[in-house]
Parts: sequence; C-alpha cells; structure tokens
Amino acid sequence: MLHAGARLAERLPQLVMPLVRRRIVRESNGVVLQADDPAFARHVARRAEAGFRLNVNVLGEAILSDAEADERLRLVRERIVRPDVTYVSLKISAVVANLDVLAFDESVDRICERLRVLYRDAASAVPRTFVNLDMEEFRDLPLTLAALTRVLDEPEFAAIDAGVVLQAYLPDSHSACDELCAWATARHQRAGGTLKVRVVKGANLAMERVEAELHGWQQAPYATKAEVDASFKRLVERALDDRWAGAVRVGLASHNLFDVAWAMGLPQRQRIEFEMLEGMAPAQSREVRSRVDDVLLYAPVVRHDDLPASIAYLTRRLDENTSPDNFLRALFTLQPGTPEWDDQCRRFVAALSAKDTVSTEGRRVQRRTDAVVPGDADLPTFENAADTDWTSAANREWVAAALRSERAETYPVLTTQHEIDVVVDDAVRAAKVWRESTFAERRALLSAVADEMERSRGRTLALMAHDACKTVAEGDPEVSEGIDFARYYGWCTHAMEQRVAEGLHFEPHGVVLVASPWNFPYASPAGGVFAALAAGNAVVLKPAPEVRGVGFELAQQLWRAGVPRDLVQFVACPDDEVGRRLVTHPEVDTVVLTGAYETAQLFRGWKPAIRVMAETSGKNALVVTAAADEDAAIRDLVKSAFGHAGQKCSAASLGIIEASVYDDPRFHQRLADAVRSVRVGLAADLSTMTGPLVGAPSEKLHRALTTLEPGEQWLVAPQCLDPDRHVWTPGVKTGVQPGSWFHRTECFGPVLGLMRADSLDHAIELQNATDFGLTGGIHSLDEHEVAHWLERVEVGNAYVNRHITGAVVQRQPFGGWKRSSVGCGPKAGGPAYVEAFGTWAGGAADETEFRRVWQEQFVVDHDPSGLACERNVLRHRPLPSVGLYVAPDASPEAVGMARTAARVAGVRLVDVAVGQPVAVERVRVIGTVDDPQLAEWYAAGVDVDRVQPVAVAELELRRWVREQAVSTTRHRHGRLLD
Ligand code: NAD
Repeated sequence: MLHAGARLAERLPQLVMPLVRRRIVRESNGVVLQADDPAFARHVARRAEAGFRLNVNVLGEAILSDAEADERLRLVRERIVRPDVTYVSLKISAVVANLDVLAFDESVDRICERLRVLYRDAASAVPRTFVNLDMEEFRDLPLTLAALTRVLDEPEFAAIDAGVVLQAYLPDSHSACDELCAWATARHQRAGGTLKVRVVKGANLAMERVEAELHGWQQAPYATKAEVDASFKRLVERALDDRWAGAVRVGLASHNLFDVAWAMGLPQRQRIEFEMLEGMAPAQSREVRSRVDDVLLYAPVVRHDDLPASIAYLTRRLDENTSPDNFLRALFTLQPGTPEWDDQCRRFVAALSAKDTVSTEGRRVQRRTDAVVPGDADLPTFENAADTDWTSAANREWVAAALRSERAETYPVLTTQHEIDVVVDDAVRAAKVWRESTFAERRALLSAVADEMERSRGRTLALMAHDACKTVAEGDPEVSEGIDFARYYGWCTHAMEQRVAEGLHFEPHGVVLVASPWNFPYASPAGGVFAALAAGNAVVLKPAPEVRGVGFELAQQLWRAGVPRDLVQFVACPDDEVGRRLVTHPEVDTVVLTGAYETAQLFRGWKPAIRVMAETSGKNALVVTAAADEDAAIRDLVKSAFGHAGQKCSAASLGIIEASVYDDPRFHQRLADAVRSVRVGLAADLSTMTGPLVGAPSEKLHRALTTLEPGEQWLVAPQCLDPDRHVWTPGVKTGVQPGSWFHRTECFGPVLGLMRADSLDHAIELQNATDFGLTGGIHSLDEHEVAHWLERVEVGNAYVNRHITGAVVQRQPFGGWKRSSVGCGPKAGGPAYVEAFGTWAGGAADETEFRRVWQEQFVVDHDPSGLACERNVLRHRPLPSVGLYVAPDASPEAVGMARTAARVAGVRLVDVAVGQPVAVERVRVIGTVDDPQLAEWYAAGVDVDRVQPVAVAELELRRWVREQAVSTTRHRHGRLLD
C-alpha cells in the first residue's frame, strides 16, 4: 500500500498528497492539536471538564523571516487573549527570526521587544494568561535568560508571574538555575512577581549532536541518559531550595511515574506543579491528576494550513518514544514484576543515588582565552579544527576585544621588477635547502604553524572584518580552514613518505607563487602555501591588493612559528608589469592561482609554458524540486546566495526551481521575506549577516544589481546603502531565461536569479548549461531524484539537502570542473593535492595493477571524515573524452602507460595532432610541446595536462578522472536517516 502510494504520488501528487496529509493529521491528532476553532475551543473545554489545564504552544519550527516571526507572534497573542487559554508556552526562536548568539546584545534587544508585547497582552487578558518561555537549542539558553530577566526587571513587568524552562540534559542548567532563582528571589522581594521554573529533561539531543559534530564541539547535553536522570532530580531540588521559597515554583514535566512519585513525596511538594504531554499517555495523566489534583498538559497546536510546522515536534516525540532508554517506550508494558519494571526501578534508584554527585560542569568548555595546546604533528588521523563556540560569553568578549584593538600592520610594497628578481633569487636558494628536509620536519613545522594560527585567531578575525569585509561569523570557519590546511597537508605527507620508502622518487617543483584572491584572504593563501611547503618547495605569497593586510598577518604568523623568512616570502605588488614579472619569472616553477578564469587565461597568455594550478570562477546553482523540504530549501538558498555578500566562489547565483514550487506564490513570498530579513551592515558589526562588498561593484556585478534582462523581474530589488556603493541589500530576480546573460555569467555579489524548470531533467540541463562547474546543490527528499541528479550534474562539489558553501578540509575537498579549474590539478583540501606540487618518478605497475587499484580506490566511494550527520564522499568520475597528443620526443613506454590508464578508467581517447582543431575539453601531452601550440589550445578553451605518465597506478589513473566531492545531509531535524 505504501509502495503503491509512493509510486502514485509521483504521477498524481494532487490526488495522493491530500490523502497523506489527512492521514498525518489523523495519526497525530491528540498529540498535536488543531489550532482552528471550533476544534480547539472544543478540546480546551473538554480538558477543563476533565480537570486539566492546558499549556498551549503554537508550533512553529522554522522561522525563516521577520514576516514569519510576526505571524507567529500574532498567533501566540491570539491565544494569549482568548478567555479559554490561561497558559501559553513559546520559544524565543519562534517569534524572533535569525537569532544569533554571537550578536548577543542585538539579539537580546530583539527578543525583549517581543517579550514586552507578550507580557503586556498576558497581563491584560481576562483571565490573566501565564507565559512560559520554552527552551530548545542550547545556544538559545543564554539569550532566553538574558532577555527574560531584563524585561521582568522593568517596572512595568516586575510584579507579574512568569515561567521559563530549564533542560536537565544540560549540565549548564544548574548554574543557570542558581542565578535565575537568586535573581527571582530578589525580584520577588522587591516587586512581588514570581517565577516558575519548568524542569524538563530536554528533547533536542539529536540536533545538538549534529551541531556539535559539524563544528568540532562537545555535545552540550550529558553523554548518558543516566546522568540526565540524575541531573533532573538535582535540578528539581535546586529550584526547590528553601532560599527561593515564595519566589520560585517548579513545573515538573515528566511522564516517568517514578519521578512523579518521588516529587510527590518531596517536602516542598506544595511548590510543584505536575506537567505532562497532551496525548502521549492519557491514562497516566488521569491517574496522576487524581492524586495531585492539578495536572497541566503541554498542548502543541498547529493550524490546518501549517502542517509542516508540526513535523519537527513529532520527530522529537517519535525519537523519545522509540529511544531504548526512554521511560515512555517502556510504559506500555510496564507492570510490577516485569523486566521493564525492574529496569526502570534500577534506573530510578541509580539516578537518585547519583543526583548529588552528577557533574554540573558545562561540557562546552572551549575558551579562546585559554593557552593553545600544541597539536601533535604525527597523529595517525587528521581532525578538523573546532570553530569558535559563540555560546561562551568569554569567547564573545574575546572577539569583541579583538575587533576593538587589532589593526593591520604596514608592509612594504614592491614597485620594481628588480625587487621581484631579488625575492625570487632568495626563494631559489631557500628551495634548495628546504627540498632536503625530511617529511617529518615539514610536518613538525606545519604543526607549529597551525598552533600559531590558532593563537592568532582573534587578531585574524579582526583584520578580516576591518580589511576584507568579512564578518566574524564568516571569518571564523575560514580561520579553521586555514589551520586545517596546515595540519591536513602535513598529514598527507605520510602517504608520500611511504611511497618514497617504497622506492619512488619525488622532486618538488622549486619555487611556487601563491596568488590569492580577496574573497578568502586567509584560508586560500594558507592552503597554497602549506601544500607547497609540505611538498618541499619555497613560496612567494602574493595576496590580492585589496587584502594585503590579512596576507601580511598570515606571513607573520608563519614566521613567528619558525618558518624561515626566505622560505615563505610576502610580496605586495601591484597587478601591473611588476606583478607580471613575478608570475612570468623563469625561476618561478608553479603558480597557484585562486581567482577568475580570465586571470588564469591572462597568465597563460603571458607565458604559455607556465605551470598553473588554478581554482577559478563559478556560476553555481541550487536545484529545488517539488520533493524538497521547502523550509530547508529557502533557508539554504538564502545562506548560499548571500553569505559574505555572495562573494564566495561557491555562492549560489541561481536557484533552479521545479515548476510546481516556482509557480507557487507562497514560495516566492517566503523567499522574499527571508531575503528581506537578512541584516546588512558593516563587517565588524556582529549582527551583520551580509557585509559590504570588498569594493564598488565590478561592471558585471553592477549590471546584475541594477538591470533586468528580458523576462526578468525583481522579487526583491537590491538597494545600495552607501555613497561608495559597497553596501547593498540582497536582491532576487525571477524569470531568468535559459541561455541569458545572467544564466551564464559569474557576477560575484548579492544577487540570486531564479529559473523555472519543467522537470528535474530540465533543471539539470539548466544547471549544466554554463561554462563553469564549481559547486551545485539539490534539495529533494526523494532519494531517486538525488541519485538521478548525482549521475548527471557537472560540478566539482555537489551538495545534497544542504547549503552549497563552506567546504571543509578533507570533508569536502574543493575544486571545480570545466572552467572552474585550470591546470588539471586535484582538489584543494583533498588527498592528492600536496603530491601535485612535485614530480614523481619510478614505479612498475602493469595493467593488472592498474585494474586492481581502479577497483579499490577509484570505483569505491570513500568517506574519510565519517560523520554521522553528513556523508562526505570523494568520487572519481572518468573524464568523458581526452585528446592525446604524442610529441615526437615521447617515449613509447609513457604512451603505452597513458593508453592503458585511459582504457582502465574508461576514457575515450582522441588522437590530437599539432595545428589541428580539437573538440575536447582536455589534451594530455606525452613528451614536450612548444609555446605556440599551447597558446593555441588555451585560446580555444582547452586545458592541457603535461604531467608525464608514471608507472604508479594511483598517480597515473588520477590523470583520467575528475574528482567530485559529494556532501549529503543525513539527518532530518537531527534524526539520522540511515
Ligand atoms: P583575480 O583573478 O582578480 O585575482 C586573483 C589573484 O591574481 C590575486 O592575487 C591578484 O592580485 C592576482 N592577479 C590578477 N591580475 C594580476 C596581474 N595582472 N598580475 C599579477 N597578479 C594578478 O580574482 P579576485 O577578484 O581576487 O577573486 C575573485 C575571483 O576568484 C572570482 O572569479 C572567484 O570565483 C574566484 N575564486 C575562486 C575560488 C575557487 O576555489 N574556485 C576561490 C576564491 C575565488
């Protein structure tokens, strides 16, 4: 039946979906109540007759915009003023959009505005309504408490009674409880108002785990259920402390009948209200009520047209009820004498005896002010650096102080070609020394660099905010990425060391120029520099002119860590003939460029034989199908398009939306509201979500921001907010036409264009129709659609059901296909990158070995990060066809090896001759080729791979594949999907 329904739904969704919806409503009826009258009024009346009060909670999980927050607030207010409602619960994130603990003061201000409105309504309602603040995400704890205490201290509200939830699964709730109760007691003595602390166990564990795993933090909740059970009792007792008598009451929210019985026996019983969940175990609720007189039922309500809002709540309840540790799961078969009974007894007794000893120390202990613990250069595995945990007040103060005090130092600017020559001469000498270093020495140095970068994190964040228009929220993961590059590339040398030990020879290139962009002013140069160093090269670091201060800071961090000054030299020079001298200097062996495709072409135009490893432009799209979770799709579109003002190479510039979603005015409205809610401002302002452009818009961006092409309309028109034309509000245009200018041009700023796709295949066609292939995403909950898309999408970084920016080292090695990458190199942050900074020789692999390695390493997907909440695999896709140019000086063995590898990889070879036009994206050259021929190929947009074949299967097979990093979200609302 389910299968039949699923199949029918694909063809006749308009028939099947209402039935599914009705079924969900029926199944969840009683657990989630209908918000609409008469059903709601009837239910409240029935409950009142049965002696239950209701604690009404208007469900609303994903608030995407200020408009949705306003609407949610309106709904809550509507409940508050009803005469049949006397108690409401809400969480702050349901009535305030885009809360951000990093922008603490501003967030608290916005919460306070909402609370005043609610408390005012509640005080004037007849009868009065009690307002309780729920708690869900750990990061909302400090915000909720700060806003609650601030508003309730104001004279207008000082006498009202109010409530707040504390979650026993957070050890941090204990100190919060002490502070809160002391505050409440003082307030009560001063003005009379009381506080109710509703103690719950906590139901957001799954999402807390996801968040912690993604950022490298400890999960905020206790590690075991046993600790939570003990903490629950300790927290109840804490809130019931006699010191707070009269000022503080406790809501005991539990279905665990042992806990209820325990609380009934407490001496402070009169200060306890018993609370249970509507619809979860009605018989128990009735039984408890008959003994304690008054039970409050927590009653989530949802409007008929807002069913998705209940999904996350239902997911959490399902999780709870199916978790093996949970009381509710055992409840249905619980009888004295049964094993379930004994088990629950044992758990209860254990919790009781542990309640006075269970730790109450918060688990999220990261403090950026603590001394950095030096990393181990020889760890057997690689671990990503943790991002800054902004829930810590100490970390917020730390960054605020850095923003106030840190400024870039001045650096010399080289203005003559002679000065460049001196730099390169020094680099050549340094390279000769460094190439003799052992891999272990390189690892040790890179590890010391990583430590120094961690020590300097605050200063780096401040400089990026001041000099590179990068907000702290965007800058922090970039610092983590820079540190990761140091450790990861150091770690990658283990594999190289092994190969050398097995008899292969590795020759570093010599002098590497790293020409880095302004949009990733720290991590991007760091990556190039560290890979080059790890492979034994000397480096000249030349940052983009806009962000030299950040580049200079990076260089200083390296020097402080012990990198010799001639091994990594910092060069600030203009992009004129001086810059050109650096790029084309005969002793510069490799140029690592992160920049525009045109810049790579320019460099190769100057010097065709130049070895370029370039990560270049993108025109990235996120596909949203009819099977998408719309909330998640809108959230991720906005995040992908407007993070760092759309100036990430990975940013979404196009949303390709399947027709039924595209044609739905509600989708447009919700997206527009979400975009209008993005806070635009200066980068050093912690509340800014979209910062300024790094300079006035380029010609292309200006056109995108100010003009519409045929068929386009503004859904949200961008506005320029300053005379320098740096600060723009984000814009969204609809009706972008296939093949149009906006469809195909990288604009690199805060503009998103929407395209309508008739079907998934049409969406993929539109997505693949650009010259670039950097990042791309799909939002669809249909795994068949996702598989179909993954087979066809032509991007280096593919993202499934998540945003498409923010690649993390090792998890999502970064680099594009087509014109998003120049030089046929491997992905940055991936396992093959460091090895590309030198030349390999040796090996004796034959076709059998090639086939074995192909099967074991290239056909099988690998997920070395092994996260639970996100699958990250690096796949190898054979190149569709490659031109093979056999130069007169090519050795027959080398040609044979290349042909064997191409055959094993299934790549179609097209023989190419000098002076002939080629119809392939890439030519592999065996032997040598002259500059005019190279120039001809480059001019025709063909990339040329001049790496010579080597009889090592893994190395040679890599020349015939494109790497693709696929990152797939594996959870919904925290619940793991497989
Ligand atoms: P850009 O191409 O203008 O500059 C890149 C680097 O090349 C800078 O260091 C710049 O100073 C140098 N350069 C440019 N012209 C030069 C000249 N004449 N002489 C010497 N050096 C010269 O790029 P940008 O504007 O700094 O960055 C934005 C571009 O970078 C976008 O196209 C974006 O897509 C791309 N980008 C790509 C990635 C990626 O990983 N694929 C990452 C970041 C940025």
